[in-house]
Amino acid sequence: MKKIFIIFITLVFYSTSVVAVEKFEFRYNIHENLPKKWVTEFNNIMNVLQEVLPIQINMNDYLRSPGMDIYAWKSTKNPFPEFRNNMRGSSISGDGSTRWMQLEIKSEELAKKYIHRYSVIAHEYFHIYQISLSENKLSDRDSPKWLTEGGAKVFEEMYVKQYYGKDSLKNDLQRTKMWSKKVLKEPSLYEKHKTSNKRGMDGNYTGSAFMVLVLVNELEKNNISEQQAFKLVFRDFWIERSKHRKWEKAFEQTFGMSHDEFYERLSKYKRGRLKNILPSKNLKIQDIFS
Ligand SMILES: [Zn+2]
Repeated sequence: MKKIFIIFITLVFYSTSVVAVEKFEFRYNIHENLPKKWVTEFNNIMNVLQEVLPIQINMNDYLRSPGMDIYAWKSTKNPFPEFRNNMRGSSISGDGSTRWMQLEIKSEELAKKYIHRYSVIAHEYFHIYQISLSENKLSDRDSPKWLTEGGAKVFEEMYVKQYYGKDSLKNDLQRTKMWSKKVLKEPSLYEKHKTSNKRGMDGNYTGSAFMVLVLVNELEKNNISEQQAFKLVFRDFWIERSKHRKWEKAFEQTFGMSHDEFYERLSKYKRGRLKNILPSKNLKIQDIFS
């Protein structure tokens, strides 16, 4: 009897310690000029994201203060003068002492109900996820832009497909004026923002997204399921990235091929042939990150 009691006590302690795992904190600063509907969706999206892709508590080490502010507003000059001056655009930004997420939602996006007004939330959140897993190795110096931005682009598209039924990835990829054939022949240009941000090279990060989708397709050829392949690209690469000095090493360890080999395989693809590389219609983010 006594023995059983001790086991029971241990179980109780064990389960409390699991429950007590600290959750990374976000602080919401939502401008009153945003419509109620947007604010409701923002809250929903943040809840889903934090459940499916929780941010590790180590994120605080890269902020130098616990928790992270999110500022959101409908385009206007100097939306939060009391916190930070002249914020513009959507990004993960920093001032040397801390970092925050900022979301500028354009009036046009709200008026015309462009899905970008929601997908941008998933996009920027995904960068925080990458920063935390990779232990802050997200800059151009540390990781290839096409994996950073292409990953965030494909993820945000998957999110709005699942939750809002909007499929804009195919459309973007078909607009060949937005991105360049250089993706196929000179992919290393897409390792840096500097060398791939000319007009028509990687508009809306579509070229980078194409590269990510080809990588997933190549992984699937090795008998890896679609879910598992996306997990390698969205999650495992960034964990592996934290362990190596160079991204090339993390790439090879995660994907079982060198980046040169991948670029060689990529060169055989055509921009117009999207059928095999678009994510399955019923793929859920929960299946990837579970
Ligand atoms: Zn981005």
